[in-house]
Amino acid sequence: MDLIEVEGMRVAGSRADLVLGPGEAVLGGGTWLFSEPQPGLRGLVDLTGLGWDPVVAREDGGLSIAATCTLAQARDAAGRFGTAAAVVEACVDALLGSWKIHNIATVGGNICLALPAGPMTSLAGGLGATAVVWTPAAEGTDGGERRIPVADFVTGVRSTVLRPGEVLRAVEFPAPPAWVSHRRASLAPLGRSAALVLARRDGDGFTLTVTASTASPRVFAFAHVPEAAELAAAIAGCDWYDDAHGAADWRRAMTLRFAEELRAEARAVEAQP
Ligand SMILES: Cc1cc2nc3c(=O)[nH]c(=O)nc-3n(C[C@H](O)[C@H](O)[C@H](O)COP(=O)(O)OP(=O)(O)OC[C@H]3O[C@@H](n4cnc5c(N)ncnc54)[C@H](O)[C@@H]3O)c2cc1C
Repeated sequence: MDLIEVEGMRVAGSRADLVLGPGEAVLGGGTWLFSEPQPGLRGLVDLTGLGWDPVVAREDGGLSIAATCTLAQARDAAGRFGTAAAVVEACVDALLGSWKIHNIATVGGNICLALPAGPMTSLAGGLGATAVVWTPAAEGTDGGERRIPVADFVTGVRSTVLRPGEVLRAVEFPAPPAWVSHRRASLAPLGRSAALVLARRDGDGFTLTVTASTASPRVFAFAHVPEAAELAAAIAGCDWYDDAHGAADWRRAMTLRFAEELRAEARAVEAQP
């Protein structure tokens, strides 16, 4: 779509170029920005010119995924996520766009867009990843950075903790969990996610992350794999999202079912010698 109010586009070549002027926004892949009218948008600053490495190994065994890493690049790197490889692939595939979309849409754009069905939010939130945010340069400084769990980064539908002028730089994934699994439902076979539930085990701990059926991620952490009733009681208090992709009561039912399936799966893995 032509963005008829946009007067200019800059390609950022350094951090100094990320100082945004009035009406400017950063451009990831543009798959959403160019998909609908953007009233008030006067300029775009393309992040891809910064040349960030899409996937970088971290000393703690985790991975740093650049905000500009495309979904296709994340999928290509799935094997580097160890136990989470299948979940990475499933979350990329949960964005039911063509290969053209997967080759352009970015991990950062998906998280910053903050749709409940944002699969990169589900993935990063569910694996306990941290958002690295570049804060805008103050007078005479380059600007700093702050870190926020991705599960807390998205605060609601199209709402994040980003303040004006801030840019998501990267998403830092910890070392792969001991075990991870997920469930996903959508109303239509090729529909947008209506419930995407991810469970992982780190040591004895069990963490269940509910996404897509709630406006923003909800994380439930337990010291051990909980009993069925304990888990169901914890989740039951969520505010269930309701839109054309699924009614609230159905999303609730699917989420509770998935949570119990994942809990049972974790128990079964625990029981293995
Ligand atoms: C066929 C199709 C199916 C889709 N399905 C889904 C779906 O299931 N779930 C879903 O969530 N989306 C879906 N989308 C919407 C969109 O394509 C994706 O969310 C995509 O991942 C957005 O990434 P992008 O890099 O193209 O973002 P852009 O369009 O470039 O940007 C999106 C927003 O994020 C901001 N932004 C981008 N990068 C940064 C950054 N690093 N720091 C700060 N702000 C930033 C931009 O300013 C803009 O406001 C779909 C789109 C299409 C065309």
